Amino acid sequence: MANIRVLILGGTSEARGLAQALSGKAGFDILLSLAGRTEKPSSQPVPVHIGGFGGAEGLASFLRDGKFHLLVDATHPFATRISANAEEAARLSGIAAFALRRPEWVQQPNDHWFVANSIPQAITALGSVPRRVFLATGRQEAHCAEVAPQHFYLVRSVDPVTPPLDVPNVEYILERGPFDLDSEIALLKRHRIDAIVAKNSGGAATYAKIEAARRLGIEVCIVARAAAPAVMTVETVDEALGAIDHLFPPAMERGV
Ligand code: NAP
Repeated sequence: MANIRVLILGGTSEARGLAQALSGKAGFDILLSLAGRTEKPSSQPVPVHIGGFGGAEGLASFLRDGKFHLLVDATHPFATRISANAEEAARLSGIAAFALRRPEWVQQPNDHWFVANSIPQAITALGSVPRRVFLATGRQEAHCAEVAPQHFYLVRSVDPVTPPLDVPNVEYILERGPFDLDSEIALLKRHRIDAIVAKNSGGAATYAKIEAARRLGIEVCIVARAAAPAVMTVETVDEALGAIDHLFPPAMERGV
């Protein structure tokens, strides 16, 4: 029997982890797709496709033309357009699909969270009095802060924010996670941060800032996720591997 062809929509550590696990599995051909946003993407363990497909129809054609058997949407929980496209493309092409989505963070005792529905709402929630804000939303939406130029912003992103923010008081850090608790506490103290704006991304790699805020009694304006995916969803790489075994039983069970 021909190899099982799997397209993984990536841009997350889970996508990379799943690609790594499947790359060592006989009978599978894996292609990992990245949007191409980061200047220096992490190295990947399987062949990579860079760039968009041209919407849901384009992705459906790509799946059909490439004779794929399975689509795994392992994109970031806040990458909503590609996830909607993935659902629609699976429907249009009739190809099996599921989402790999890490669980969101849950507020703990001593967390001071304001839960917002969007980054603009989180920025507004900072109030009119000038504050010292750690803006940890990533560079794509950092410009939302320009509506509140009274605050100081410490902006952390993988690639530079271009153009720079049109606010008088801003500093930039270029860094890729994972981040650890001690360095996050030191960062927040060094910049005398009194509020954090962050997405509820979930996962361990960027959780340290949430824990650091808890330790230091700092408010977190946290942006909630949009609706959960409509397709079947698993939370971990191991669960994804289990789902794949279920969909495509190992060769001996298939009688190959
Ligand atoms: P988005 O708004 O949901 O997607 C915008 C467009 O980018 C999509 O319509 C698609 O273009 C293309 N695209 C997105 N992900 C792709 C992928 N994995 N492979 C091929 N094309 C892709 O996405 P975004 O929020 O800009 O995020 C872009 C990428 O960065 C995602 O892959 C995501 O996993 C990763 N990421 C996002 C965040 C975040 O906070 N949003 C954080 C960390 C990593 P076409 O319609 O032309 O196919």
